[in-house]
Amino acid sequence: MKALVLEQQDKATLAEVKEIALPDMAQGDVLVDISWSGLNYKDALAITGKGKIIRQFPMVPGIDFVGHVSRSNDPRFSVGQSVILTGWGVGETHWGGLAEQACVKGDWLVPLPEGMAARNAMIIGTAGFTAMLCVMALEEAGVTPDSGTVVVTGASGGVGSTAVALLHTLGYNVAAVTGRESTHDYLRKLGASEILSRDDFAETRPLEKQLWAGAVDTVGDNVLAKLLAQTNYGGCVAACGLAGGFNLPTTVMPFILRNVRLQGVDSVSVPAERRAAVWERLMNTLPESFYQQAATEITLEQTPAVAADFLNNKIQGRTLVKITG
Ligand code: NDP
Repeated sequence: MKALVLEQQDKATLAEVKEIALPDMAQGDVLVDISWSGLNYKDALAITGKGKIIRQFPMVPGIDFVGHVSRSNDPRFSVGQSVILTGWGVGETHWGGLAEQACVKGDWLVPLPEGMAARNAMIIGTAGFTAMLCVMALEEAGVTPDSGTVVVTGASGGVGSTAVALLHTLGYNVAAVTGRESTHDYLRKLGASEILSRDDFAETRPLEKQLWAGAVDTVGDNVLAKLLAQTNYGGCVAACGLAGGFNLPTTVMPFILRNVRLQGVDSVSVPAERRAAVWERLMNTLPESFYQQAATEITLEQTPAVAADFLNNKIQGRTLVKITG
């Protein structure tokens, strides 16, 4: 099969599309013919070697994919069934989705929701799945459209774009924080009614004027610290990313004086029942226009160059990798 293969030479990561042997059924219970994969920030770190994502080489990267079952030793999945995979260390410790086939555990798979096109599932991908988890975290913390404005950082990226579209469709007033003026039109079309510059988030005081009922943060560091200082009494910040760094230079003030909640969001190890519910909500919430606005399609051969673009902040929305289509 054709796959993107990562190898290590002199501590540098080499990425090349190669013909390799089909996956062994011993690697899992279900063999999947992959139709679409996605390119995520974590894939970009792995493919470029800029992040310590992969510790065992050779490795096939790709943390998400959609396809149909070609062989199954798991009674829950039958040949021909369409399935989605995100997370579980696939593309990190287990051969991943940037290949024509993958053999994975049945426990890791979610049936493609009825009525969702496979291509749309990968326009959503890990990023969109995470965005929905963040929105649900805000809902679970009691943030409603009537509570006030919700702010999204790293707004033109994969998680950010989907979060803006989801929140807008659910009736929230959405503010978007971006480092790029070129994305303003795109963000307005997705549903942002306010756009703020990332530069304004460089410095913060322990407490600032209260502006946000909630926040979805994909950036971390100073940006997250400022969000916390500007969150309304009783509000919630759902933090899922580190595109700006993994530090958090904050104080306890927002927590002890304003009852602010900082809710961490992980997409890798979400239990199966919650996954199915998240996919169902994504299908029922995202408008058709989102899939046209937010997706760029590339080939497997283009993935190493596009991975470098990710880390240079040149990517907008979701990047969809056509495997067999
Ligand atoms: P993208 O690269 O698509 O988006 C990241 C966005 O962050 C960029 O578009 C840019 O938005 C902004 N950004 C980029 N560089 C910087 C910088 N140096 N400082 C501040 N902002 C920056 O990535 P994804 O949307 O796929 O992922 C976003 C983050 O979420 C990543 O850190 C990723 O690892 C994390 N993530 C976590 C998951 C989890 O399970 N917790 C799952 C999925 C993703 P703009 O140009 O608009 O400012």
